[in-house]
Amino acid sequence: MHECGGECERPERARLEAATAMSPEPGARAAEANGELIRLERVSRVYRMGDSEVRALDDVSLTMRRGEFVALMGPSGSGKSTLLNVVGCLDSPTSGAYLFEGEPVQGLSDDRLAAIRQSRIGFIFQSYHLVPRMTAARNVELPMLLAGVEPGERRERVRAALEDVGIARRARHRPDEMSGGERQRVAIARAMVMRPHLLLADEPTGNLDSRTGDEIVALLERLNAGGLTILLVTHDPRVAAHSGRRVRMRDGRVQDDAAGEARGSASVAPGAAAGSVG
Ligand code: ADP
Ligand code: MG
Repeated sequence: MHECGGECERPERARLEAATAMSPEPGARAAEANGELIRLERVSRVYRMGDSEVRALDDVSLTMRRGEFVALMGPSGSGKSTLLNVVGCLDSPTSGAYLFEGEPVQGLSDDRLAAIRQSRIGFIFQSYHLVPRMTAARNVELPMLLAGVEPGERRERVRAALEDVGIARRARHRPDEMSGGERQRVAIARAMVMRPHLLLADEPTGNLDSRTGDEIVALLERLNAGGLTILLVTHDPRVAAHSGRRVRMRDGRVQDDAAGEARGSASVAPGAAAGSVG
């Protein structure tokens, strides 16, 4: 078997090509004009388990503009990961509408959804989700391999991405030879290498000590200051304090949605966090 464990055998390249061949719908241009990146309109996601059902998302309406850094908070089981999965086109609403960059996502084929994820959405997770047997450089290269990027450009973008997250010296190390903070940096480099429009982060500091967690948040702030839109799930009020806007969930609903007091979102104050990572 190939060293990536079969992951790269999926026909992602064909999916990407099919997707990029499509032109945006008229609504997409309108959303573009007012800077809107995502829009959820009365979205519900219901899991049926035998006779019972769980409303993981219950009538959620939410929009995010380009350049925002939003922290998603709330108790365990309140629907945060489900919301992230819907926003990341990994899951579909049971009812309601979801538009990504102005384009309604429901009804799109699996190939088209995969292509949107691959080319426009980056993910990072609490447990990093790196391929264990691959070096940092190979992990970062993988999305480009799947997308059919040429070898020379792949090499250059891997180098730049690792350098950008401050981990170039670890390029030839495997995940089990790295600390948690280093692994998360590699995961961020992998998420960024396809130049996504949106970064989704599900408790990215959850497995890190507070100092290392602070470094990861500072790195995310710097990416946000550079224009990246970020939706980050966290339990930690200290982490959330760095965002421009806090959305609190409870029982599948948005309970509270408030702009931060300390600092505005990057769309209001671009460059506010620039240079915060050495
Ligand atoms: P959070 O990330 O806030 O902890 P989740 O989005 O993971 O919450 O879960 C929200 C609710 O949906 C919980 O009650 C959870 O048990 C339920 N749930 C999540 N995923 C599934 C699934 N695949 N099947 C059934 N229920 C699920
Ligand atoms: Mg969760």
